[in-house]
Amino acid sequence: MNEKLAIVSELPEGFYDFEPDQILALFPTPTLIQLSGDKSPPIFVSILLHGNEYSGLKSVQALLKKYTNGLPRSMYLFVGNVTATALGLRVIPGQTDYNRCWPGTGMAANDETEMMQTVFDFVTRKPLFAAIDVHNNSGLNPHYAGITTVTDENQHLAAMFNHIGLVFTRPKGVSTMAFDHICPAAILECARPGDELGIQHATELLDALLHMDHFPNRPVPAHDLQLVRTLATLNIPDQVSIDFDLSSQADLLFQQDFDHLNFTEIKTHDVFAHTRVDRPLEITNQLGEDVTDELIRVEDGRIYLNKTLMPAMITMDEAIIRQDCLCHLLVDYHLETLDNR
Ligand SMILES: [Zn+2]
Repeated sequence: MNEKLAIVSELPEGFYDFEPDQILALFPTPTLIQLSGDKSPPIFVSILLHGNEYSGLKSVQALLKKYTNGLPRSMYLFVGNVTATALGLRVIPGQTDYNRCWPGTGMAANDETEMMQTVFDFVTRKPLFAAIDVHNNSGLNPHYAGITTVTDENQHLAAMFNHIGLVFTRPKGVSTMAFDHICPAAILECARPGDELGIQHATELLDALLHMDHFPNRPVPAHDLQLVRTLATLNIPDQVSIDFDLSSQADLLFQQDFDHLNFTEIKTHDVFAHTRVDRPLEITNQLGEDVTDELIRVEDGRIYLNKTLMPAMITMDEAIIRQDCLCHLLVDYHLETLDNR
């Protein structure tokens, strides 16, 4: 893929109302748009780094439509993977993932790493107020912000979006990590693509950033933000059959609405799942080490967690479970974790 970056200073005709599948008519290539407004420093907003995650497009369309007579603050808008967007794909098979190739990536240099370096260098020539990267995920997740460094400003950003924030340090090469230490930076996970509440909250957050003079210089009150981090990833061995129906005869059974447990705390006496086999799950920590026996126990065919954890990014699609994982298990960021042993 050899796509040329365009750098422009105006929104194309028809920007406010076009649909993602029409994107190539307005943005034939990835485009950085420099929009001037009353206040500086500008914010940097990236959308469509994953082509099918179009809530960011909807939110900047709503935001910028409001300010056709002038923006309260200058803004850079980076419209990322336009070819994947046109096809409704996260990334085109064989193409570099646009959110793995930012400065700090471990990836060998290629056209995409060079493009993101160019964007990064361009927008960081002068100070930035904040950097926001807008995404979606699958499954029944609430909207939440992800931050890669736990600073007061990043926590303010996360709390402005929702009362839960995820701290992550992997994968490398994500936009949010590149902007850390430059300005407050967060990734907004706006629930499923098109989810109205996610779009609305992203729009409101961006709107607030256009108006703010500075971030509050006090810590975020604890009740305004629960910070969590990924402790472990939960996989199901290939030979273990699964079903999301407790009356089924499969080896491993979850309740029918298992994905409603996303971001809810599962206590040590709550039944997590039911099993007919001895080792129905494989749980690995962030270092890839097996922590199954530390984290779960099986009693009379019932699976319990050994510590209070929060499942997140649950998928109930068996193909995705087999390829990727069933879910991640999150833990309160401020608590001692297995990785710190
Ligand atoms: Zn994404």
